[in-house]
Amino acid sequence: MKTNFSTRLLLLALVLFVQLSFTHNSYAQFTAKNEIKIPDIPGYVTLKCDFHIHTVFSDGSVWPNVRPEEAWREGIDAFALTDHIEHTPHEQDIRENRNRSYEIASPRARELDLVIIKGAEITRDMPPGHFNALFLQEVNALDTEKWQDAIKAAIDQKAFLFWNHPGWKGQQPDGISIWYPEHTELLEKGWLHGIEIVNDGEYYPLAHKWALEKKLTMLGNSDVHSPVSMRYDLSNGQHRIITLVFAKEKSTEAIKDALFNQHTAIYWENKLIGEEKYLKPIFNRSIEIINPDVTITGKGRANIQIHNNSQIDFELIANGTSDEISFPSKITLYADKTVLLKISAKSETLTGTKKIGLPYKVENLLVAPQQGLSIELPINVNFIPADPE
Ligand SMILES: [Zn+2]
Ligand SMILES: [Zn+2]
Repeated sequence: MKTNFSTRLLLLALVLFVQLSFTHNSYAQFTAKNEIKIPDIPGYVTLKCDFHIHTVFSDGSVWPNVRPEEAWREGIDAFALTDHIEHTPHEQDIRENRNRSYEIASPRARELDLVIIKGAEITRDMPPGHFNALFLQEVNALDTEKWQDAIKAAIDQKAFLFWNHPGWKGQQPDGISIWYPEHTELLEKGWLHGIEIVNDGEYYPLAHKWALEKKLTMLGNSDVHSPVSMRYDLSNGQHRIITLVFAKEKSTEAIKDALFNQHTAIYWENKLIGEEKYLKPIFNRSIEIINPDVTITGKGRANIQIHNNSQIDFELIANGTSDEISFPSKITLYADKTVLLKISAKSETLTGTKKIGLPYKVENLLVAPQQGLSIELPINVNFIPADPE
């Protein structure tokens, strides 16, 4: 009886041990890193960044060291913690020190080879509204009575300053962005460097237009307050809003340099927003035309196979015609897949090899509000006239 009991105990211990090992294994799998498949462009690495994140040190619900962990898992390269200066609802529980979120998160960020940037959100009524200051040394210096002094304290630290959510309904009537004289004042002083075109789930077309006109750096950020996995269904392919930074290398200095020189684009849902000089190379490097050389006899047909190695589905709409061939008016180049583009000759008397650029607009790559990127798919068609019997 006694032996039996200790055997049972031993078995129980064994079962518990095996269960614990399994638990441990599944935890190890859960820490896998997701790779965001958007290619580098010639001369630059494409860094995936989020420059607007909150923690418990303002009105967020996350301890700072969780932020690098989340960023790493999602395939983010660089991020900024930007707690509100003037809005700290947890101050009963958390001692006020506006450098602390950065200090707490930094060791883990470095261990994970992430670039972490010290920032803050200057949180004022409209005008001028909310601004993020990045690359700060001393955040507490921004805690001033007048908003002008807060911004000056950031500029004195050589900060990069951008206007947050310029169409946010909380501050702009009906969500329409209004540009105030205060913004002109900041711009003319050289203190305003960028603007959020996308914040959380919102896109601001007017801000997009202003960024192009006034040469402001375009940003798209999560402004996440909760754990990222509570805001986005990450297991089903959703991702936070990301600023793509085209930098010489992955470093704080290179990112700063890129931001001051407008080397950015925005990755939001299945869309990219940015200047043609960035979106075109991203498209070209994502796409491979597997068989650009085809032969068509008479009014016959041919299939062009196109592979997309990015994680964006490119939605193409015809943007012109060709004298020689017919091609689909609409086609989606699916992420990580190869699709068939069916073409046919318009006449049976065509002869010889012709270089043809099939003209399309990529509807979900926005170079301006409601304006897709124009591209051409280059193919070579060898036409053989139909046998006259
Ligand atoms: Zn804000
Ligand atoms: Zn915010």
